[in-house]
Amino acid sequence: MIKRKKTRQIAVGEVKIGGNAPVSVQSMTNTDTRDAEKTLEQIQQCAAHGCDIIRVALPDMKAVEALPEILDESPIPVIGDIHFNHELAVKSIEKGVQCIRINPGNIGSSEKVKKVIDAAKTANIPIRIGVNAGSLERDIKEQYGITADALVESALRHVRYFESQNFYNIKLSLKSSSVPLTIEAYRNISEKCDFPLHLGVTEAGTAFSGTIRSSIGIGTLLAEGIGDTIRVSLADEPVEEVKVGLELLRALDLRKGPHLIVCPTCGRTEIDIISIAKKVEEKVRKLRIEKNISIAVMGCVVNGPGEAEEADVGIAGGKGQAVLFKKGKIIRKIPEQEIVTELLKELQTIL
Ligand code: SF4
Repeated sequence: MIKRKKTRQIAVGEVKIGGNAPVSVQSMTNTDTRDAEKTLEQIQQCAAHGCDIIRVALPDMKAVEALPEILDESPIPVIGDIHFNHELAVKSIEKGVQCIRINPGNIGSSEKVKKVIDAAKTANIPIRIGVNAGSLERDIKEQYGITADALVESALRHVRYFESQNFYNIKLSLKSSSVPLTIEAYRNISEKCDFPLHLGVTEAGTAFSGTIRSSIGIGTLLAEGIGDTIRVSLADEPVEEVKVGLELLRALDLRKGPHLIVCPTCGRTEIDIISIAKKVEEKVRKLRIEKNISIAVMGCVVNGPGEAEEADVGIAGGKGQAVLFKKGKIIRKIPEQEIVTELLKELQTIL
């Protein structure tokens, strides 16, 4: 079991982050936020796949003006992502975002940051201080180079300022596209403060490489008990980020849900396990199961019956057919073309 580091608790809308709250999954829309309808559509898709919190880019006032329509309909809390312009941050807080993400280093003078802090204080919403290796302050870069120490120093500098303003409703992220750097930075900051941490590997890549890099970066930290909310960054649809994020949490037993056990197939496989497993996975995902259930899709009699028997439901393939198991017992034989339907039917009986 993972022993999670206890952090202070904050709330983004209804979603608690830190303390004893479960690790939440975030994503970010990639629509033009000014198009409220399209943005909402994407938010709804993400929410339907289990996303807990969504972030939207707010690059200009028009985007900020679209917020009320988005906030009215969004089924999950919305975080406004602001760079460079404190007025956009203040306005979006006034419009009702449930949290904002800024990198105080690119907002400008401390007076400007203070205005954002004051607005967040009045609205009683948290601020994510998002430090990024790509936009470190010049003096920090000169002193530390682009290192984990630099990220930590930058974050702590901002934290000190926020604390001097009596503002503690914060969470932190220290992102880099380098996985080892990200891991080191989060480990260090986790020892130095107890603010909740938002984990992510930035610009991680496409669905393939980004999934691997995020899983190693975020997964290593979560396995060490570090991290309170996660965002997997992929150059893909946000919903794909949500799927990966949830699977990552399930892999570490940090989130309940279905576990699909699939054999890798080999020369003994006599039914199309790969396409059967994909279909089962897709259908199971739509069921939004929130308890631990194992489903085995196995190719043959070598490991098949063993795994399938251990699982809550499962099949072990044979020639053109499969044996269906439930809770360790053989239920019946089923022809190949009926495997998906029958397995799902059996699964429904134990939900
Ligand atoms: S369960 Fe059977 S088909 Fe699947 S990999 Fe193992 S030996 Fe091969």
